[in-house]
Amino acid sequence: MNLATQIAQSNAPPDRSPQAPPPLVQVTALKKHFPVHQGFFSRVSGQVYAVDGVSFELRKGETLGLVGESGCGKSTVGRTVLKLLEPTAGQIKVDGRDITHLDQSEMLAYRRRLQMIYQDPYASLNPRMTAGEIVAEPLIIHEVGGSTKERTARVATLFERVGLRPEHIKSYPHEFSGGQRQRIGIARALALSPEVIVGDEPVSALDVSIQAQIINLLMDLQDELKLTYLFVAHDLAVVEHISHRVAVMYLGRIVEMTDKATLFAQPLHPYTEALLSAVPIAKTSSKQRKRIILKGDVPSPIDPPPGCHFHTRCPYAHKRCRSEAPPLRQVTHDHWAACHLHDGGPKLPLAKPASALA
Ligand code: SF4
Repeated sequence: MNLATQIAQSNAPPDRSPQAPPPLVQVTALKKHFPVHQGFFSRVSGQVYAVDGVSFELRKGETLGLVGESGCGKSTVGRTVLKLLEPTAGQIKVDGRDITHLDQSEMLAYRRRLQMIYQDPYASLNPRMTAGEIVAEPLIIHEVGGSTKERTARVATLFERVGLRPEHIKSYPHEFSGGQRQRIGIARALALSPEVIVGDEPVSALDVSIQAQIINLLMDLQDELKLTYLFVAHDLAVVEHISHRVAVMYLGRIVEMTDKATLFAQPLHPYTEALLSAVPIAKTSSKQRKRIILKGDVPSPIDPPPGCHFHTRCPYAHKRCRSEAPPLRQVTHDHWAACHLHDGGPKLPLAKPASALA
């Protein structure tokens, strides 16, 4: 049984599209570049343009799926939004407050509101701590919960909420299955009652049957706790099920963004079309698409092509595409695309040069 069938059978609200709730997180022209070091003296010889001018908003209570091939910069976006990485340029606002340049102590308060679930639950859990200690650690760091007794009670509640048994509290990470370890990661992320959770490929390391259980758990938690998710994934079937809206990334830029149903039924960007054509049966589409095989490999983010980054592989590329980068423009209501084939509408803010931050 595939993932789509398992989730459909065991889940879930039929319509997960809220009525345009207000933005909780606003990301504007975000850039994250990493220096490339070379030679004996480790001189900087170039930049990896991992995230290169990304703008989007996360609306209260929604899930925005951030999707793209490996190396497109989607995980870097998630880590930079949480300030686990310092942005090279751009702006991150939470509830209207600019957190882009907060130092570590100022950021501590925001850490409580913004949490992360990691891809590899085993690597992200300290093997020398019991599961109970792992979940209690954020409470101790943030001095939440007062007494040990109160923290122990909070940990027990979290274990029950994520489907772990009380006796698991004293077990070590190696004693759990992959799915159980991810439940510990989720309990830890929930410990401080956050509003926003970034999931960095949180189910991609799990078996398909376990993926469905974890996705169902995340959706239940969202409904119950009014959580807002930025869900980073490469698997379109997973993104289709959990997301309200979807943003598609290619080589450090968002190339298309809209609600899930529109994206799967009427993609505008040639890259999105190609990605969707590789999905065997897209639940929201009425007919099977003709498979589009893209030529060539994804270019290196150290030396991305000029103009539209996708022009080296795009079947519709024309002269303008090779020299002029298309901004992300509004094509129809809440449907945005970065393509010269759809260049009529207003555009999202472009990034300032990195030097403008200095
Ligand atoms: Fe293709 Fe040009 Fe559109 Fe880029 S801008 S996706 S190269 S048609």
